[in-house]
Amino acid sequence: MKSGPLNLILFGPPGAGKGTQAKQLIEKYGIPQISTGEIMREAISSGSELGKKVQSFVQSGGLVPDKLVLDIFQSRLDKPDCVKGFILDGFPRTIPQAQGLEEILLSRKSTITGVLAVMVPDEDLIKRLTGRRICKNPACGASYHVDFSPSKKNGFCDQCNGELYQRKDDSFEVISNRLKVYHDQTSPLIEHYEGKKILYKVDGSGKIEVIFQKLCDIINGLTH
Ligand code: ADP
Ligand code: ADP
Ligand code: ZN
Repeated sequence: MKSGPLNLILFGPPGAGKGTQAKQLIEKYGIPQISTGEIMREAISSGSELGKKVQSFVQSGGLVPDKLVLDIFQSRLDKPDCVKGFILDGFPRTIPQAQGLEEILLSRKSTITGVLAVMVPDEDLIKRLTGRRICKNPACGASYHVDFSPSKKNGFCDQCNGELYQRKDDSFEVISNRLKVYHDQTSPLIEHYEGKKILYKVDGSGKIEVIFQKLCDIINGLTH
């Protein structure tokens, strides 16, 4: 049995189901989800200095500069709940971010345990993102879909009864840009991690529970 922290990257295009899966994986494995997107959305809605810096990038569907993202990650990693490991969701998104991540972990004598890549075709991603609804409660952040995964009570979260909303960047125009940015700048990470022999691809087009089981099987294989 391998010991040490369980440092996972949940990789995939926008709308692949990373957030949906991460919320279940953190329960099962007792490690936190680190979503750079969630951190930025909270910063924007609170009107903080960080929020002001990242707002224009997030609204247009472009990427926030690497240096800033690495700083955000590093301060999150310093929180005590990360000692047993973490699930990265939406980070790293560029080769320089992946390199920066490796350096940060190396300096702490740690490393990435595995990269779980959830693969979904673009046409499905567009349908998922345009129908997505998110719980407003920052402690929850559950993802729903008007057709594929509706909440029981219309407009409210099943987990915490928080109000559901549609992200501004889930509009068709911004989605098209986010998908382009993914293919240009983020998808090269697949080869990067294949080269390091820590990439595990999962078909993300099935049912949420089936994908969850596949992810658990891979993670259990990493820890045994
Ligand atoms: P999704 O889950 O739909 O892919 P995220 O919540 O991960 O979206 O990200 C939303 C937005 O936040 C991105 O479009 C980008 O502007 C910004 N963002 C999040 N993570 C990163 C990152 N690692 N590098 C650069 N920008 C990021
Ligand atoms: P990401 O974090 O990768 O951007 P989300 O977890 O927010 O993706 O999921 C995007 C949208 O797709 C949400 O509306 C979610 O309810 C829905 N969704 C997630 N997984 C599936 C799935 N396996 N089949 C259909 N819809 C899904
Ligand atoms: Zn909620």
